[in-house]
Amino acid sequence: MTSPERVKVVVIGAGQAGLSVAFYLRRFELVADQDFVMLDRAPGPGGAWQHRWSSLRLGTAHKVNDLPGMSELGLSFDTADRNLPAKAVVADYYDRFEQHFDLRVRRPMNVRQVVNAGVDLQVRYEDLTPQPLEEQKAARGLFGRRRKTFEEPAEPTAPQHEISTQFLVNATGTWGSPFVPYYPGMAEFAGRHVHTSDFTDAEDFRDKHVVVVGGGTSAIGFMLELEEVAAGLTWVSRRPIDWLDRQELDLEGASAAVAMQDEAARSGRALPSIVSGTGVPKSRRMAAGIERGLLVARPMFDRIEGDRVVWEGENSGMARADVIIWATGFRPDLRHLAPLKLREKAGGITVGQGAAWSDPRIFLAGYGPQASTIGASRAGRMIARQIMAML
Ligand SMILES: Cc1cc2nc3c(=O)[nH]c(=O)nc-3n(C[C@H](O)[C@H](O)[C@H](O)COP(=O)(O)OP(=O)(O)OC[C@H]3O[C@@H](n4cnc5c(N)ncnc54)[C@H](O)[C@@H]3O)c2cc1C
Repeated sequence: MTSPERVKVVVIGAGQAGLSVAFYLRRFELVADQDFVMLDRAPGPGGAWQHRWSSLRLGTAHKVNDLPGMSELGLSFDTADRNLPAKAVVADYYDRFEQHFDLRVRRPMNVRQVVNAGVDLQVRYEDLTPQPLEEQKAARGLFGRRRKTFEEPAEPTAPQHEISTQFLVNATGTWGSPFVPYYPGMAEFAGRHVHTSDFTDAEDFRDKHVVVVGGGTSAIGFMLELEEVAAGLTWVSRRPIDWLDRQELDLEGASAAVAMQDEAARSGRALPSIVSGTGVPKSRRMAAGIERGLLVARPMFDRIEGDRVVWEGENSGMARADVIIWATGFRPDLRHLAPLKLREKAGGITVGQGAAWSDPRIFLAGYGPQASTIGASRAGRMIARQIMAML
């Protein structure tokens, strides 16, 4: 293990939220990789967007807001090619942003734990750079170290590091923490469970009977993509779909959803689903899908039995399922913060204006009301200002 370094701020995560915070820290004249350090576990720039499926275009995503300072590079998502994969455009723009502002993101660095070390916080992370075979052997001993018991985890072979910091900005998003609700029979399902985070290409489902679960735009996007490909397609949603009579996200609806998120964050409750607060804007493609009977969701099934999903009671029936796609969302990815014991009994972390109320050294960027590209961009200035006031 290398000797610990000490910095003013560690930012975990280089997605929209982390980059926005870094932009303002630099503007307040902190030096990247010296006063503040950014760590990201992904192999390249792009935050969660680099992992999204190729058929997701900027034209089919909700609006992706610009990062602060992006205009200085002559870039805007508003004028980007809407027909290219969103993952490629966002990764390219973030990459250029990082270069232009010389942010020196350290990657692929996975933060395993943040612990309280008195005055400072200690950030423990591992370097996920693929190791040449010889170095792996050296790390494990010539013949590999035998585990004493079956339960004992293998010793990590990735190089381990730690940094001490005065302030922590956690901007780790949600992509690493997919959420799948429990339904009876799911462990014995004869087919394949797939979560949104595993979806790469509709062709993977050619000639399969697919059940899509979820009431948001990801589920709807999958239905539209699978229509021509799957042998059978069933859409189920826990809640009736709240279609909006407009093509873009209703700003009033969105601000009500943001207020719901803010209220939950400020009172330390688990965050509600965003789509439950916004409704679903109905593009022309979606309206046509509803018209031809494709985008008509059934209520949620009651259980899974072999290769079927089963409804009981009034709606009793079954549908064949080779695959169930769970477009059921994500939760904040915060496992590495567990040693700090920030979680309240109510299930969330108490956060107001991006600051954790139980520890003034800790900020959560992109959490709750900031969980959109516009919210994440705003978080940058709000959090950087608070840090500068305390430094
Ligand atoms: C399918 C889907 C579509 C969406 N479409 C839109 C849209 O059209 N418009 C919109 O505004 N919002 C959209 N969102 C929400 C969107 O994800 C956010 O708006 C925004 O991109 C999130 O930025 P972020 O920086 O908070 O998180 P992320 O982009 O997820 O970045 C977090 C970063 O933290 C890193 N990280 C995580 N854990 C660790 C760790 N332990 N150690 C080190 N690094 C770590 C990750 O590698 C990642 O790079 C969408 C979300 C989903 C799931």
